[in-house]
Amino acid sequence: MKPINHYNQKNVLVLGLAKSGTATAHLLHKLGANVIVNDKSPIEGNEQAQSLQSMGMEVIGGGHPTNIFDKKIDVVFKNPGIPYSNPLIELARKKGIPVLTEVELAYEISEAPFIGITGSNGKTTTTTLIDEMLSQGEKSPLIAGNIGNVSVEVAQEASDDNIMVTELSSFQLMGIETFRPKVSVLLNIFEAHLDYHGTLDEYAKAKARIFKNQTSEDFAVINADDEQVLKLAQDIKPVLVPFSTKSKVDGAYLEDGFVCFKEEKVMSIEEIVLPGKHNLENILAAVAAVKLFGTSNEAIKKVLSNFSGVKHRLQFIGETEGRRFYNDSKATNILATQKALSAFDGNVILLAGGLDRGNEFDDLLPYLANVKVFVTFGETAEKLKKTASQAGIKQIKHVDNVEKAVPAAYEMSESGDVILLSPACASWDQYKTFEQRGDIFIEAVHKLK
Ligand code: ADP
Repeated sequence: MKPINHYNQKNVLVLGLAKSGTATAHLLHKLGANVIVNDKSPIEGNEQAQSLQSMGMEVIGGGHPTNIFDKKIDVVFKNPGIPYSNPLIELARKKGIPVLTEVELAYEISEAPFIGITGSNGKTTTTTLIDEMLSQGEKSPLIAGNIGNVSVEVAQEASDDNIMVTELSSFQLMGIETFRPKVSVLLNIFEAHLDYHGTLDEYAKAKARIFKNQTSEDFAVINADDEQVLKLAQDIKPVLVPFSTKSKVDGAYLEDGFVCFKEEKVMSIEEIVLPGKHNLENILAAVAAVKLFGTSNEAIKKVLSNFSGVKHRLQFIGETEGRRFYNDSKATNILATQKALSAFDGNVILLAGGLDRGNEFDDLLPYLANVKVFVTFGETAEKLKKTASQAGIKQIKHVDNVEKAVPAAYEMSESGDVILLSPACASWDQYKTFEQRGDIFIEAVHKLK
């Protein structure tokens, strides 16, 4: 850990407890700061809060009282999920107090360089691929952030024999000041989180902050097929390493059935296990990033010829009597299900349905040509049945839940079919999380065997 001392004796407010806030408070305390922690939930019965208190930190729970600022506060670290409209954040910004997120602190203390991955979609997949590819090489990657452990904890253990691999949301990037990744990756920009950022422009600007402190000694892996991305990367300082599934670029691209990097054939596309065109984008981004760290083609090939997807994201579960099963429970909206359906040529049995948010499913229609059987469940079952029959699908079945959907789908299937759970809806009408829904699907598939 780098010995930094600029938090020593400083009054630091940590907003939002949870795992990341607790770890941030611990570290700042270790660095000599006077830490005040604030969370909207009451602290009674909260073990984390009580342990911080017992270490001598001031912990204020049950709301966000603005009189915290009666005392001079030097810096605020906030949980990325807390919006800037929070009264404490508004006040801090009015007073010109820096409002940072955990990744900034992780960067400040880390002895290892960072690869930062951002974009609207594909972050987790790309982060996982980069981690697995680097694991084959000399420097061990440490995965931190959304997946993996809390960044500030991982960073404390990191040495220059490691590479920090971290997925960054726009919320996290809003709170960086000096964070400078050796390699940044910007996958794509779709309309997302506009409730938080206001406009697409503001959201895109937040994503572009990943380049903010990079210099000509650093690298930016960017999607050359995405106009928004290209616009954001126009005047940045790092060396651009583009990737494209459409054309040959000076980075990672596809040519003659091969994944290529700068004129070199890395591996044949046929050997890649991970389905979906969108995943080819994630793969090219990962290849470009790890090539910058000298990862060999053999290592890349080894990973891509085995990697069957991050859990619940178009994850290949297995094959039974010629039927291939995929779990895409993370597809909680129509866009994600469109992507999943585009990954297959035909003979798909689609399992979909879930929480009703009031929307219709007409946007799925153009993607249903591949679907021969539609199995629906959950609150949106009736709406989806209507969409399926509009698409001309002959076999439509309404079942109670995912557990029952699997044997029902199997009964109507034949060898060569793909049985795909890609619900196009959130899970909360019947399940606690999309993970639970996916696990139930996997279990039901295993039961068939
Ligand atoms: P994130 O971490 O950014 O949410 P994930 O890797 O978890 O991304 O993928 C979530 C979903 O986003 C996938 O199930 C897929 O439907 C979609 N997706 C993944 N990669 C891409 C991509 N490169 N472009 C568009 N959509 C994608």
